[in-house]
Amino acid sequence: MSQIFTPLSPFSTMQMAVDSVATSAHPSNKIAACIYKGPNSLAHANGWPPAIATNFPPDARIGNSSGTVHAEVNCILKAPFATDGSSLCITDPFCPNCAKNIAEAGIKHIYIDHKGFAKDFAQRRGDDFENMSLRIAERAGINVTMVNRKEETLTPIITIKDGYVPREDNPIKIKKFPDEIISHALLQKIITKVEPRHERWGVALSRDSNGITTALIASCHPAIGYSQNTQTPLNAEGKYNFWLEPLNRLLMGAKRFGLNIPPNLIFTSQIPTSRELVNAVAADIKEIYCANPHTARDADSLAAAHLLSQRQILEIKELNIQH
Ligand SMILES: [Zn+2]
Repeated sequence: MSQIFTPLSPFSTMQMAVDSVATSAHPSNKIAACIYKGPNSLAHANGWPPAIATNFPPDARIGNSSGTVHAEVNCILKAPFATDGSSLCITDPFCPNCAKNIAEAGIKHIYIDHKGFAKDFAQRRGDDFENMSLRIAERAGINVTMVNRKEETLTPIITIKDGYVPREDNPIKIKKFPDEIISHALLQKIITKVEPRHERWGVALSRDSNGITTALIASCHPAIGYSQNTQTPLNAEGKYNFWLEPLNRLLMGAKRFGLNIPPNLIFTSQIPTSRELVNAVAADIKEIYCANPHTARDADSLAAAHLLSQRQILEIKELNIQH
């Protein structure tokens, strides 16, 4: 007999997000989200991963990133189910970085609480939301809806046409190794065979729900729905751009397919960016193997890696690729 459950509504799940806002350790910008799919849900606020909270003062910079992880990313990283096809309720409009991560995690509907639009943050970041976050969501085929809990109304912001499939010209590759056990030797064997699409790329090992060794391979690429060869300017001015770095893709892509990455079986061709490193700490990653530990997208990334290594939060180890 199949299990009977009452489907979760965006009103009840938005309420779960709102109820989690108070758990945020952030002094001024408390935001929460609730991810749900079928009968399952998980609410989480923004905040500092424990390893960062215990080692650094709240205002410490990790390279060019804050030490906090956004509520949306926390929800994805902690979700106890595959995030592909799930919905996400957020108390506030989402930033472009979260938009890219939400797309990579395969989330198909975002709900935003109507009160979030009146807040100071929304006013300050309104342009980024309109010009980047919503564009990224639309290209990725994600519906965006405003929720009024009190009046029980839903106001569409972006409605995706039936049958729209976002272009994915460089999707995360997933390879199964049914005869292999998960090991560093296997990681090393896989990376020698990868033909990367970008100088920044990475590989993560995991086990699927049947215990089969699974590798995820990703290169740096614009958000789902965008092409590397598009005419659209991908390097927007200011704080954000349309690119998603390989480690972020691996962390989000793993959750999309319900895979948990062990703490020490990730490889990256270069040092990940500051934001990727903070997200990796939130994902309980402890070691990253790196082909070029003195090379990174920017100097801040090297500083962030050094800082986290020094405090023994996240160690970078050199791993040579022998083709
Ligand atoms: Zn965000």
